[in-house]
Amino acid sequence: MTDRRPAIEGGTPVRERPLPYGRHSVDQADVDAVTGVLRGDWLTTGPAVDLFEEKLREVIGAAHVVAVNSGTAALHAACATLDLRPGDEVIVPSLTFAASANAVLYVGGTPVFAEIDPRTFLLDPADVARRISERTRAIMPVHFGGLPVDVDAFDRLARPQNVVILEDAAHALGAMAGGSAVGASSELATFSFHPVKHVTTGEGGAIATRSEERANRMRRFRNHGLDSEVRGREQRGAWGYDLLELGFNYRLSDIGAALGVSQLTRLQDGLTRRRALARMYLHGLADVREIVPQVVADINRHSWHIFPVLVGDGLRIDRDGFVRALRAERILANVHYAPTHLMRLYREKLGCRPGMLPVTERVTSRIMTLPLYPTMTDDDLASVVEAVRRIVDFYPS
Ligand SMILES: *Cc1c(COP(=O)(O)O)cnc(C)c1O
Repeated sequence: MTDRRPAIEGGTPVRERPLPYGRHSVDQADVDAVTGVLRGDWLTTGPAVDLFEEKLREVIGAAHVVAVNSGTAALHAACATLDLRPGDEVIVPSLTFAASANAVLYVGGTPVFAEIDPRTFLLDPADVARRISERTRAIMPVHFGGLPVDVDAFDRLARPQNVVILEDAAHALGAMAGGSAVGASSELATFSFHPVKHVTTGEGGAIATRSEERANRMRRFRNHGLDSEVRGREQRGAWGYDLLELGFNYRLSDIGAALGVSQLTRLQDGLTRRRALARMYLHGLADVREIVPQVVADINRHSWHIFPVLVGDGLRIDRDGFVRALRAERILANVHYAPTHLMRLYREKLGCRPGMLPVTERVTSRIMTLPLYPTMTDDDLASVVEAVRRIVDFYPS
């Protein structure tokens, strides 16, 4: 008889090699693309950045794409176009990476945290409606995990009030909403190319926008606020420039951009594999009542950046105990995310307290991320399902 005790209780771990929750994939073509740039004339501010923006425009279907050097810089640049004055508010979820709300602080605004739907983990339009005020300038929904939010629902709230929808689409490159990709017709949608995301540039990010004016402003913003870029000046034989406003150095390098161009050629394959793995999880865990996956209408429109589940009722261990037990099985489950509003910065700065967002706090005390990335094998996935079942069976309440 096989040993059914969890590893944390002295059993044999389900696997030998640790399984990370996410991982980049880099192939020989990626290496060749980067090497090509390293041997060329432009390590930064060169043609690879233009090409990357063009390819992103095609993939997303957006009118304008501005590449920057992180997803956080993308959020900062997007927020800078909102022209916030002190006291102006942006409504954000708390279940997200801290960068989402931080970007509002960068530009002197006040983040206002709103609730999520406990089944989809997405910002709840009904709760947002209750929090809209005279001072609301934007709403920042997050396509959590890669599940597209219903942007129209927020648009209906925003339009009479002249409020901008700024989508944090860091998880959602290639996710489909309606007939098009997330970001295709957005006023502002930001993406991240951190290694754990769908496509990587090492560090990097981009903003998709339907507004030419916002795109031009963000191009300036990423280049100190200057009126021109180096290559343009060289082509014109000019050296003078003016500083139009305060910007930053948020430029993506050509090294990163070339990696991104090469990675984008495999985006669809990666999405297909992520969707297949998600389907296997949903099938493999369908009869495990204690583990509750994100409620998803259509697996194939989701981009499956991560596979989040709730540790439900009926167990003697809590979420933290479950993550510890999985890690003992060498399954490196993780938590996305601890709630932003209860981080020390937000407690001190905005006076946030436990109990402020009961739905979010319940979800964030129970949520965990199971491993999912394109090069993960079917056997890897089977080992996760086995470990989850073993732990659930061992700790009935
Ligand atoms: C990754 C991420 C970011 C920030 O992206 P970086 O490229 O790491 O700066 C912002 N928002 C969300 C939801 C993310 O997951």
